[in-house]
Amino acid sequence: MNVNPQSYTVDLDWKKPYPSIDHDNEAFWDGLKEHKLLVWKCQQCGAVYWPKAYCQNHENEPFAANCEWTEASGRGKIFAFNIHHWAFHPGFKEEVPYVYALIELEEGPLISSQLVGDDLPTDIHKIGQTVEIVYEDHPAQGFTLPKFRVVRG
Ligand SMILES: [Zn+2]
Repeated sequence: MNVNPQSYTVDLDWKKPYPSIDHDNEAFWDGLKEHKLLVWKCQQCGAVYWPKAYCQNHENEPFAANCEWTEASGRGKIFAFNIHHWAFHPGFKEEVPYVYALIELEEGPLISSQLVGDDLPTDIHKIGQTVEIVYEDHPAQGFTLPKFRVVRG
């Protein structure tokens, strides 16, 4: 799949598990729909988390005190990846083999997602390679998924 624009639309019946969207993460999912990757940032010390968490640098604070969703750069590096040759859920049957990766965001947190595009990693020499977010819009289902692609050069 050649993924050049910063987003693309998938207009198909949804056959996979739905993302689990709740009160604590709905701002993150709303951000994706606006093509923004949000991370959870402590306004007091600048520590960044994903998913939403309490800041580990302060004691005796209420949960999530001084923290806000903040837009991230959308760039990071491949921390680890594996190639799925078998669909563990029938909804993924037409996509195997696909690459599932842990991305270390520039801001620090790890996020897991599928890598898309032409330049997919096949061996461990691709660990550390720079990736950037691509927004996969699913208008019929009302959500956007964060996918990542390798940045060339
Ligand atoms: Zn803090």
